[in-house]
Amino acid sequence: MPDVLIAGAGPTGLLTAFELERAGVDVLVLERDAAPATQSKALGLQPRSVEVLADRGLLAALEPHVQAKLPAGHFSGVPIDYTDLPTSFPYQLGVEQAHVAAAIEARLRTPVRRGAGVTAVVPDDEGVTITAGGREHRAGWLVAADGGHSTVRSLLGAAFPGRAARISLVVADVTLAAKPAGLADAWSLPAGASGYLLPLSGGRYRTIVFGEEQQKLGRDEPVTTEEVQRALTNAHGPGLEVGEVLWASRFGDASRQLEHYRHGRVLFAGDAAHIHLPVGGQGLNLGLQDAVNLGWKLAATVRGTAPAGLLDSYHDERHPVAARVLVSTRAQAVLGVPDPDAAAVREVVTGLLAVPEARRAVAAELSGLGVTYPGITGRATDVPASADGRAVLVGAAVPPGWAGRVEGREGAAPRLVRPDGYVAWAGGPGLEEALHRWLGASA
Ligand SMILES: Cc1cc2nc3c(=O)[nH]c(=O)nc-3n(C[C@H](O)[C@H](O)[C@H](O)COP(=O)(O)OP(=O)(O)OC[C@H]3O[C@@H](n4cnc5c(N)ncnc54)[C@H](O)[C@@H]3O)c2cc1C
Repeated sequence: MPDVLIAGAGPTGLLTAFELERAGVDVLVLERDAAPATQSKALGLQPRSVEVLADRGLLAALEPHVQAKLPAGHFSGVPIDYTDLPTSFPYQLGVEQAHVAAAIEARLRTPVRRGAGVTAVVPDDEGVTITAGGREHRAGWLVAADGGHSTVRSLLGAAFPGRAARISLVVADVTLAAKPAGLADAWSLPAGASGYLLPLSGGRYRTIVFGEEQQKLGRDEPVTTEEVQRALTNAHGPGLEVGEVLWASRFGDASRQLEHYRHGRVLFAGDAAHIHLPVGGQGLNLGLQDAVNLGWKLAATVRGTAPAGLLDSYHDERHPVAARVLVSTRAQAVLGVPDPDAAAVREVVTGLLAVPEARRAVAAELSGLGVTYPGITGRATDVPASADGRAVLVGAAVPPGWAGRVEGREGAAPRLVRPDGYVAWAGGPGLEEALHRWLGASA
């Protein structure tokens, strides 16, 4: 019997599994789809996610698939310069989500079980019994990373407050039979919030459109080549001819967040916990950061060494971060509305974002580098994670009783670095307190 079951082999579920396995926990990932996704919703990673993947040795496998290193993020299409961000990766890494998921999955010890959609969840005081792919599974804990339409969320009747979608968009990957001269063939920032056409590898192009036609069609209406052609002709004029629609999907700007990320022995992460318009490239990154925050806390809980409240600190730390992203994406959506008054606000905001301090504040949010938690003094990107998911104590002797629970390292700047890379103590008094708070009672 595994220690932890994970519903969903999207990037969130896979990285949670990786983090748990790294810490010596037995995991089984159950995925509804029969085969790994070959199509990607997200096309990029924000700097904090790149830092985390690099730290875990997962970046090298992505290198062959990197299409761009964009020196800026964007706020509703307004470029936000990243070049002076305090990181070794001051750019958005243009890499398709399917490659990110595949790179993480390739490093799991236990293969993902596919064609195993979760259809029933019965939690009790000691664990969770689920039905997936017609079979029963039991473990002490379940991580629900089964995406925006989370079955686990519905089965548990978990409140998911927010608001329904008001606009409807189409994402499509297409080949072009003909294209007008001057159509960009390199990655650049989206021209505006109203949609874009971006070259991918292998002669594919990614487009997102949300014209009047999309607003009239129902959410479950299939996307036709004709609809994509009409939208692209509207946006780019004649001369652009769609060859084949390789993948298309409708999505909206629903904005919702779980009230509680923990429901007893079930923990929610990624899109299962929060959904919003994918403007500014935030969703995948939120999910990856949920995973690295939850992984070590759940591992310590499984081992029985977690201090009181550690697992609940996952909700306490991560809920406000996604809540802020929901605010940001709603604001960005308003700026993109094709309306003269929205255009006026956009003009004012664009001006404000040219002010260095304002730009830096927004860059910190979008990049994920500005994320911090109560009692945390920052990230320690110069302190590589321990191979087995332990905390790292730099530049100070490991106090008696803590050997084995924390990896000691030489270093000039004293720090206690949590397994997710955040600094819980930075010299001076308070080391014992930090050890107790994050690692539990000394052995
Ligand atoms: C058009 C578009 C563009 C986007 N662009 C970006 C971007 O540029 N940057 C960014 O950061 N984010 C972007 N996002 C958001 C990003 O794609 C999501 O936030 C991300 O996929 C979340 O990952 P996840 O693992 O939480 O969920 P998902 O990727 O949805 O994975 C959930 C997994 O669970 C599986 N599953 C579902 N039900 C069950 C079940 N009952 N049992 C078992 N398995 C189940 C699914 O098959 C899937 O594999 C975009 C989204 C869209 C729609």
